[in-house]
Amino acid sequence: MVNIYHDDESDISVLEEEIIAVIGYGNQGHSQALNMRDSGLKVIIGNIRDSSFQQAVEDGFKTYDIDEAAKKASIVFILLPDEVQPEVYKNEIEPYLDTGDAIVFAHGYNLHYGFLVPKKDVDVLMVAPRMVGKFVRELYEKGSGAPVFFNAYQDSTGKAKQRVLALWKAIGATRVGAMEITVAEETELDHFSEHFIAPVISRALILSYEVLTELGYTPEAVLLETYMSGELGEVASSLAKDGLVNQLPFHSRTSQYGQLIYADRVMPDDYRRLIRELVEEIKTGVFAKDWQLEQLLGYPVFNKLLEEAFNHPINDAERKLKEQVKLDL
Ligand code: NDP
Repeated sequence: MVNIYHDDESDISVLEEEIIAVIGYGNQGHSQALNMRDSGLKVIIGNIRDSSFQQAVEDGFKTYDIDEAAKKASIVFILLPDEVQPEVYKNEIEPYLDTGDAIVFAHGYNLHYGFLVPKKDVDVLMVAPRMVGKFVRELYEKGSGAPVFFNAYQDSTGKAKQRVLALWKAIGATRVGAMEITVAEETELDHFSEHFIAPVISRALILSYEVLTELGYTPEAVLLETYMSGELGEVASSLAKDGLVNQLPFHSRTSQYGQLIYADRVMPDDYRRLIRELVEEIKTGVFAKDWQLEQLLGYPVFNKLLEEAFNHPINDAERKLKEQVKLDL
């Protein structure tokens, strides 16, 4: 049975004496820092001197260079982009960690693949929200929270689990449920969603746009039909609220029949093989090594793919549609 923890199973007061440094006031950093401060914890920020640094100051945080913040804190959240974490940790965080301090990651990537090996005398905690940063804050403000995967990956003090649960209570996650899974499982599942679920959706939309417009359908109408009305977003939200099958009755019977009868043809059982291959590439580190190499070479493939994506005619069609149809999404 999976372990899921709620508010009554964690106690924020265990963090009363701790100073928490959030390193990286970006997507996750700013939301998590604001939530923890509103929950009564002592939070400071460490950031490079850029607009995020200024934002942290404007939001009323004591804000420092990264090494200075790491020096002052006993719990250090490393909420930097994954690809910069190993170097920043080595140079600007690790030298200032004392025995018994804790470091916290929002994703297991660097730990799982060994790109970052923490020193042995600190707690290493994973607190990985299943939500983009903006909503981690918005849900907290509404009195709710984002669900999280968590793990006390390295327990050097004997209180790592107590600490990680208290942190998640402060961020709002135990209001809805914090699920304990391994760093390996969090990382691999996260990448699976990114390598299969997300591309299936985006590729389906792009291919549909290309073929339907070739067949003479109006570009703006194709966009409004397939995703830009916001209906797809509402359906996605209903999948989570009501369930994959339970949301079906919200569609017409004609739509339900069409969805069910074409499902196997659109995605035949052969896809199981692809799913297994993709998982294998994640588990064996093929993707992680490829991404590592891409970074070392200066992102040549990534930049090319981004350029192609931003130059696709669908972007122009989206812009034209948005000029004419004023959706309040
Ligand atoms: P961001 O891309 O928002 O970056 C966080 C901060 O790091 C920003 O303030 C950024 O500054 C700063 N930064 C960028 N490059 C450097 C550098 N070379 N040296 C020092 N600071 C730098 O990160 P996210 O919040 O998206 O991700 C943080 C962690 O959270 C990652 O581990 C990620 O996997 C995880 N995560 C993210 C989710 C999300 O919703 N994005 C969801 C779940 C987990 P600047 O603003 O100037 O770029």
